[in-house]
Amino acid sequence: MEYQEKKIVPPTRVTHITFHRIKDPLYVFQLTIWSLPPLAAAAITFAAFLRARPQRRVPGGYALRFLFLTLFFWSAFNAIATLVSSEKAIFLATQFAYLGVSLAPVAWFVFAVTYSQRVLKISRHALNTISALPLITMLLALSNSSHHLIWIDLRFVSADGFTGLITEHGFWFYVHAVYSYALILVATAVLAFALTQYKQHHQSLLAAVFAPVVAVTTNLLSLSPWNPYPWLDLTMVGFVVAVLILDVGIMRRGLLRNAPVSRERVIEHLKDPVLVLNHDGEIIDANQSALSAWDHEFSLLGNTIDELIPRIPSEILFSPDSNSETTIAGRAYEIASTPLDPTNVATQVAIVFRDVTERRAAISALQNAKAELQRMAHTDALTNMHNRRYFMERLQTEFERIQRHGSVLSVLLFDLDHFKKVNDTYGHDIGDAVLIAIADVVNQVKRGTDIACRFGGEEFALLLPETDKIGAINLAQRMRRSIESYPYATKVGHNVQVTASIGVATLSQADQAPENLLKTADRALYKAKDGGRNMVCISND
Ligand code: GH3
Ligand code: MG
Ligand code: MG
Repeated sequence: MEYQEKKIVPPTRVTHITFHRIKDPLYVFQLTIWSLPPLAAAAITFAAFLRARPQRRVPGGYALRFLFLTLFFWSAFNAIATLVSSEKAIFLATQFAYLGVSLAPVAWFVFAVTYSQRVLKISRHALNTISALPLITMLLALSNSSHHLIWIDLRFVSADGFTGLITEHGFWFYVHAVYSYALILVATAVLAFALTQYKQHHQSLLAAVFAPVVAVTTNLLSLSPWNPYPWLDLTMVGFVVAVLILDVGIMRRGLLRNAPVSRERVIEHLKDPVLVLNHDGEIIDANQSALSAWDHEFSLLGNTIDELIPRIPSEILFSPDSNSETTIAGRAYEIASTPLDPTNVATQVAIVFRDVTERRAAISALQNAKAELQRMAHTDALTNMHNRRYFMERLQTEFERIQRHGSVLSVLLFDLDHFKKVNDTYGHDIGDAVLIAIADVVNQVKRGTDIACRFGGEEFALLLPETDKIGAINLAQRMRRSIESYPYATKVGHNVQVTASIGVATLSQADQAPENLLKTADRALYKAKDGGRNMVCISND
């Protein structure tokens, strides 16, 4: 193809570029076939930019959108450069295309690092450093006329009614090119490595590798002398193909949303501390939670498990699927040990510590609540003595015990005399205080093994295991005297006269039912009431 050069630039390196009209352009715009590739690339990269919007918050999402945006700038300004016919406008568009040209490799790099979930750990500071050179490139491209570091030679050529720009690149362009290709290479390698870790992501692996390969190859071809048509920007064709590949391989299947997560990352961020031990009990790996649990900032490597958890039996650590518990810094942990080589359990083991502190606390609170409920169900609220329900349960057990082992058992039932009068004279509150005082008397007089309860109202009962009739009568007499002589004036505030009538019953034959024992005691109690009150009686039967 022959080009009719409108402006002849001397073959020596130019130090400055001047623009002057080739001839009065007939049209400000030119419409040729050469605009199609960059227009197509601009359209498809912009469409991809919009299409990736819903996935912007997933790992790599922002970077991928930024990549599409840089490719859009690149192709849109290239398209403008083919659409305008004034030299100044062509060159200006070419300069502005560097917004994309310089930043696209960085965008790809950031995408690779974030999409692969930091297989390669890059700090923000490092990312800033990586972006510095492309920013310099961009500024140099925009200010080329004062230093010619990006373009040293610009030739505007008209051929077949198309005015195009043929450039010769300067020093910095090659710095930029080498840097960009290196960045793309590293990024693609990182992506490829990350994706080989996930068996489910074949297609995204292929896409992630082929998209940059296509883009880079076409870009190199464009810059090389083998480009079949000087006005055909093969890079733009490459972008179209690369974006389609990324769309099919990563975006369409929602793989961006389901970005692979490395297992190492999962373990690293597990809330449960995880340690890996070798056969000598030395720690060969520890996740972040383990470091925090033992308050080590950097590493637990080289420590032995005994140093971290004294007195931990090694059979727990090296027996598969064993479970144990330990306390670390005041928190309770369940320990689960798993051999990493199932054929040889004594080699390396992974030990997972599950923090069960809260669960333990909840269980203990539940147990306490249950115990409290049980206590309440068995306790009389006014006197804090056992209640009738508890008494009946204990009577039943004692009765069964006697049936098995044979022994004696006595019951003592007492009722306060004329208690109605106490209430009537001093008021119900004083009556209550007297009942509390009676509980005090009972607790003082009874023995440790005796079971006392408030049977109801002003009636109390005592269960006396291993106590025969004589013993029971003696206790009843002491009880009666103590009730009569209790210092009510000081304890209750009034010199209340309180006495009790007490009925005693003793069980020695196992064939007698427990209820009968109570009935017998009740009869004795009524005998005492009938006999004049403030006395102890036993039933005749
Ligand atoms: P006696 O047993 O000697 O035949 O005469 P009493 O007056 O004690 O007999 P009664 O069974 O007629 O009355 C029992 C009284 O006990 C009635 C009630 O006011 C009183 N009482 C029962 N439970 C309570 C209580 O929880 N607090 C108070 N303050 N009084 C109670
Ligand atoms: Mg009564
Ligand atoms: Mg009474």
